[in-house]
Amino acid sequence: MNAQQPLIEINALKKYFIIRRSLITRLLASRKNLLVRAVDGVDLAIREGETLGLVGESGCGKSTLGRSILNIFPPTEGEVLYRRENILKYNPSKLLQFREKAQIIFQNPYSSLNPRKTVRDIIAVPLLQKGINNPVQREERIMELLNRVGLSEYHINNYPHQFSGGQRQRIGIARALAMKPSFIVCDEPVSALDVSVQAQIINLLEDLQQEFNLTYLFITHDLSVIYYVSNRIAVMYLGKIVEVAATKALFESPLHPYTRALLSAIPVVDRTARRKRIILEGNVPSPINVPPGCPFHPRCPERKGDLCRSVIPELRQVRSDHLVMCHLNSA
Ligand code: SF4
Repeated sequence: MNAQQPLIEINALKKYFIIRRSLITRLLASRKNLLVRAVDGVDLAIREGETLGLVGESGCGKSTLGRSILNIFPPTEGEVLYRRENILKYNPSKLLQFREKAQIIFQNPYSSLNPRKTVRDIIAVPLLQKGINNPVQREERIMELLNRVGLSEYHINNYPHQFSGGQRQRIGIARALAMKPSFIVCDEPVSALDVSVQAQIINLLEDLQQEFNLTYLFITHDLSVIYYVSNRIAVMYLGKIVEVAATKALFESPLHPYTRALLSAIPVVDRTARRKRIILEGNVPSPINVPPGCPFHPRCPERKGDLCRSVIPELRQVRSDHLVMCHLNSA
């Protein structure tokens, strides 16, 4: 394992969705279709063997970015490099091979599992794709995967509704592991679970990472969770990455005003460790109508006049391994 080598590199990645108006509305009101800029020019590297946390408020584009990296949502522009090859240029058979290596674990394990299939059938799907056609071998592999994620062999004939939320997430993890992946997008994998179960699933993901040298993109809106799981953290706002740093550096000395506001909202028991709460003005703007200049300027408590209102700052390195997109920190 080389912890410094990027496994995934994302360059100028954009994912726009078009909201089509009806022909009559367009003719009568002379209005064009609307463009939702869900991911708007993201540059990011995910190093082999690390957990990169991706955090931001709901609707900032985190999940769309995760799905665009896997080409579940084909990007509008940009590059996604996996071991230095642009997966967006892959032919269908190469893309299928990439999809074996890059898996996703979803937030809601119940809706991501087919309710009409048993655990055996659910985990058999990727194994059949992988060419394990011998029923005995397939059954052995399913048992092995169930044991590895903390389920028992007698669960094999059960249906998803017969499991608790945590057990269902374990089935989702077993399904992802069946392909022997090297990279997994964990999309809010513990957000729908009780706190006690969250810890068990996080521990399981960490054990699996060690055992199989997995690389994770861990998406969450919960900063307390991300602190414990991530080696580095990327903060996302309105389709853009605004700060990237090692977890300790980001928590101890955040550079972007948005990151400072997010961190100030974390409840802390120790009074001496509490930060002054920063209340942001207004709501997150719509990705249909992104503000000019710095996208955070309408809410930024530290904005500096015309510069922030009219010029988009670049994401640049201002300290060792610490990048920020803010005019205040431009060297
Ligand atoms: Fe605030 Fe300006 Fe920095 Fe944007 S560029 S975060 S508006 S100070």
